[in-house]
Amino acid sequence: MNASPADQRALLDVADLDRRARRAEASRRTPPQAARIGELTAQRTLQAHELALRSGVRDDVQVELSRLESDVAVAEARRARDAGRLAATSNSKDAQALEHELASLKKRLSDLEDAELDVMERLEQAEAAVAAQQAVIDETNAEGSRLSAEAKAVVAEATAELERIARDRAAIVASLPTELVGYYDKVALRSTGAALFTRGTCEGCRMVLSGTDLQALRNAPEDRIVTCPECGCILVRTEESGL
Ligand SMILES: [Zn+2]
Repeated sequence: MNASPADQRALLDVADLDRRARRAEASRRTPPQAARIGELTAQRTLQAHELALRSGVRDDVQVELSRLESDVAVAEARRARDAGRLAATSNSKDAQALEHELASLKKRLSDLEDAELDVMERLEQAEAAVAAQQAVIDETNAEGSRLSAEAKAVVAEATAELERIARDRAAIVASLPTELVGYYDKVALRSTGAALFTRGTCEGCRMVLSGTDLQALRNAPEDRIVTCPECGCILVRTEESGL
């Protein structure tokens, strides 16, 4: 395959655009934020589970408190009823029994109030634990939203970059012989496509050419397409090649 030195140099631009396109394509598919977003999603599941546990504890304490409140209400109603009866009775035996019951109701109410205070304290702690976990989740969500927005911007920029690259590439390719482009495309499937040959080295794979290969390169006419014996890419010789 033959190509003018200028066309060969143009292949370097095509290879550069292809390299940028691969990078942009990688960013578009997997923006740098993707890994952390994945971590956050997994964390969010665990955090939601913990929130459910803490909410369950709070609900149980809440039920306990409601039960105590209703016990207090029952005891207070009985106390009011007994006090009414005591005021109304003239039977000393009844009065004695009512006084006895009022005394034990007083003790019961005092115990219930102590228990209520204890449960209220536990409810406060359980509510604080729920709020703390909710704050953790809010933080995870905020980071997730921020990273998602950033990732979206990266994807949009990469998509625009890919469009620009495609336009630039089409313009260069249009000026080159179809056969040369076909050859480059084939080579580019397995290598960087085209690379500068400089200081005895293939810029595509960084391989330093051996004496025999170097000699062959020196002997090849300048409009002959030569490839790297190591990676197979088109080696573009220029005045920088130092041959
Ligand atoms: Zn190479």
